[in-house]
Amino acid sequence: MDFSSKLLENAVYEMAQLPGIGKRTALRLVLHLLKQPERRTEDLSNAIMKLRNTVQFCKKCHNISDTELCEICSNPKRDATLVCVVEDIRDVMAIENTGQYRGLYHVLGGKISPIEGMGPQDLTISSLVRKVKEGEVNELILALSSTMEGDTTNFYIFKQIEGTQVKTSTIARGIAVGDELEYADEVTLGRSILNRIPFEGSFNNN
Ligand SMILES: [Zn+2]
Repeated sequence: MDFSSKLLENAVYEMAQLPGIGKRTALRLVLHLLKQPERRTEDLSNAIMKLRNTVQFCKKCHNISDTELCEICSNPKRDATLVCVVEDIRDVMAIENTGQYRGLYHVLGGKISPIEGMGPQDLTISSLVRKVKEGEVNELILALSSTMEGDTTNFYIFKQIEGTQVKTSTIARGIAVGDELEYADEVTLGRSILNRIPFEGSFNNN
């Protein structure tokens, strides 16, 4: 792409660093912003900078939160003995949208993936294991997507907590192998949480 302006080129370059944004789209977005009142660009950069500078992670579930303890963890109506293990905030949002789940979450921050250089130590697994061993949890729902990385992570966690009293289940029904959780429709995802199955039985059949 040949730019007549170095300033424009820089802005397009930065925009194109975002996932799913190619150079063409980046150019379109930048030109769009230029046509809008200056205030629009200011609001956008301020919102992102404010998020960046003040974002917190809930000290209990590691979800993105505005406060030390997120709204879900601090809600007394939620069942704190039931914990659903998910990859990131998008999964929390997807499950919350089903309206079928009244327990808490544990956000891992990713999946074990040797290819991407993600090991168990890069995730919040040790804090999850601690929670389980301290006896706070009665049931753990392993709700990672059924991709190879998701399965590996589920199994790793299962091995870490083996021998404890916690009941371990997994969402299986209705979620196709290879599907990412956030793309499942609400009814399917809601049903797969309600109809969860014991984790141990879930891999013997494979
Ligand atoms: Zn929380």
